[in-house]
Amino acid sequence: MFNERFYGLGSTRSVIRELFEYGKKRKAEIGEDKVFDFSLGNPSIEPPKSVNKSIIDLVSNVSPTSLHGYTSAQGDVGVRETIARSINERFSVGINKDLIYMTCGAAASLTISLGALINSGEKVLALAPYFPEYKVFSETAGAKFEVVKPLDDMTIDFDDLSSKIDKSVKAIIVNSPNNPSGVVYSKEIIEKLCDILRAKSKELGTRIFIICDEPYREITYGEEVPYLMNYYDDTVVCYSYSKSLSLPGERIGYIAINPKMQDSEKLYLAVCGAGRAYGYVCAPSLFQFVAKENVSQKALVAEYKENRDVLCDALSKLGYEFAKPDGAFYLFVKSPSGDGEEFSKRALKHELLIVAGTGFGVKTHARISYCVSKQQILNSIPAFTALMDEYKA
Ligand code: PLP
Repeated sequence: MFNERFYGLGSTRSVIRELFEYGKKRKAEIGEDKVFDFSLGNPSIEPPKSVNKSIIDLVSNVSPTSLHGYTSAQGDVGVRETIARSINERFSVGINKDLIYMTCGAAASLTISLGALINSGEKVLALAPYFPEYKVFSETAGAKFEVVKPLDDMTIDFDDLSSKIDKSVKAIIVNSPNNPSGVVYSKEIIEKLCDILRAKSKELGTRIFIICDEPYREITYGEEVPYLMNYYDDTVVCYSYSKSLSLPGERIGYIAINPKMQDSEKLYLAVCGAGRAYGYVCAPSLFQFVAKENVSQKALVAEYKENRDVLCDALSKLGYEFAKPDGAFYLFVKSPSGDGEEFSKRALKHELLIVAGTGFGVKTHARISYCVSKQQILNSIPAFTALMDEYKA
């Protein structure tokens, strides 16, 4: 009677949410500080002070009917101009406001971009490990979804990638810094990826678009994150302020289309059409203006870096294996048994909530979100020790 696919999606929680809900219940049973919840990617640091200040200034000084009214469907013109200017200052790509579309965060940016690009039956590739919602978003756009394996260091297995590109491949989603591995793809990796995509497009007579999912661009610990538009013409950037300004609940981000793309204006119109069809017009107006005012704010990453260092040091001393993350706030740890599901289940006995890698396309690993207090990390070390001792016994 109802839409079967959506009923299926709505009635099964994601593994991450499942674990988070379990954690809430468990905390009520045994106490908040006895449960080490590393399940969610909810920023643990406050937004920069300037964010609060601009909210207060806007609410105090701008007429409410204008501040809370509809903007253009694609976003306020001044906001888009400011974002275009900021992108050009940082990456010299020559973008203008008419290639920027304001959205409700990266999830909406991805949904709209996929909707704009995909014709039914075309294929979307994701590079494992990948954000699980990519499959949902791609299939909603009518795409077939296929996963490219990673190498042991969680970078791209280019042989596997090449073998999976056929005429039906329309887009590939690239996420760096990566959720769940924290890996940042280097300039060399990006160049090789783009070379392969160009060569394959030429050989097959097709166009393959890169959808660059960038909610963690600002959360890095020293590594440069190459800006894909400067490497590959057919690039669409899906950006979000959720993590950079610690505003995930406010739902604000944008889509930026590479001005060097052939028919970029046409794709922009398809983006406007997809936004309209999905009901994603006029992203939250107050937060469009907040984004404008804070366009050059840097994310406050010092705390995440400290957490990363404390956790990586402690876990590697205990014998856990992982690729050291250069960005985002996740650590993707190899299960000592080689089975991520078993690892995550066994961790629960020690009140450690870590997410099995299966949903991210890597069955051997589990994800630890370290966007938590440093104290939680320190308190959890005896539990990680006891867990490893079990494997060694
Ligand atoms: N993409 C990745 C890789 C993410 O980790 C997330 C959220 O955690 C999103 C997209 C969705 O972000 P937003 O909250 O901006 O919709």
